[in-house]
Amino acid sequence: MARSDPVRGYLSSAQKAELAELAEAVLDEHSDGVGPVDPARIIRAKGLRLVFGDYREAFDGLLRHRSGRFTVFCNLTRVETNTSPRARFVLCHELGHFFIPNHRNALRSGLAPHHPSFCEYESKLFVEQQADCFASNLLLPRSQFLTEARKKGTRDGLKTILALARLFGTSVTAAAIRYATLGASPCVVIKWNPNRYGWKWLSEDAYAAGYRKTIEDPAAVLEGSATAAAFGASKPPAEGYFKQATTAAFWFPFVKPGSNKDVILHEHAMPLGRFGALTFLYPLDGALP
Ligand SMILES: [Zn+2]
Repeated sequence: MARSDPVRGYLSSAQKAELAELAEAVLDEHSDGVGPVDPARIIRAKGLRLVFGDYREAFDGLLRHRSGRFTVFCNLTRVETNTSPRARFVLCHELGHFFIPNHRNALRSGLAPHHPSFCEYESKLFVEQQADCFASNLLLPRSQFLTEARKKGTRDGLKTILALARLFGTSVTAAAIRYATLGASPCVVIKWNPNRYGWKWLSEDAYAAGYRKTIEDPAAVLEGSATAAAFGASKPPAEGYFKQATTAAFWFPFVKPGSNKDVILHEHAMPLGRFGALTFLYPLDGALP
């Protein structure tokens, strides 16, 4: 949970590595490595109470410490069912607050307020990013995820991401972010909130190649593009996403049209209902100059 003065900031790679290690240790203890992780089982095994209820838009999840006992609350209004991909992420996120020593101790000592969690990378608060990072490692363990990504093909964009999301029981957003941050192949993921830019994740090689700043104004998205189609659609097409070819110069304002950096990209995009839309960009020939 957050300290009383919310701290904004970004996780360093050392901090991310530490959270990955912590999640791995939890998996070693609580998962047989077959099939998707079961966060409810871990919650029960650790003696925490688990309560699903309708709490309007107050939070996605919440970890409370009272009279020596931890309780995880999960908001069905926001996650829909006990076992939806979003519910699974929320439970893993709250487990993050339990397993990260500073978070647990702050709750136990009464220093932390019962601050509400909004999951899946919606919060820029440092403690929330820590819990999101832990959740991502718990749901999508690095080596298993990369093995499956390579099996399913790293040149198929959202088609592969959708298959990975199904396999690991996560949302497409969580799988796409994991795919980019683990560098399964060069790509850029942009998460749009309804009517505005949300977040962006670059694979390390995309960052190193200088593909960093993208357009962030939804109004600047080209009419007729896959992303524009996703903005205008209430649900994904039969295939699961819209696709179009695009160019780097269109998406990256610092890439000059016609320059050698102006490569052709695949643009895959899907509407996420009330959560906005997702754009997935990757080079047509598999590599960036
Ligand atoms: Zn939280």
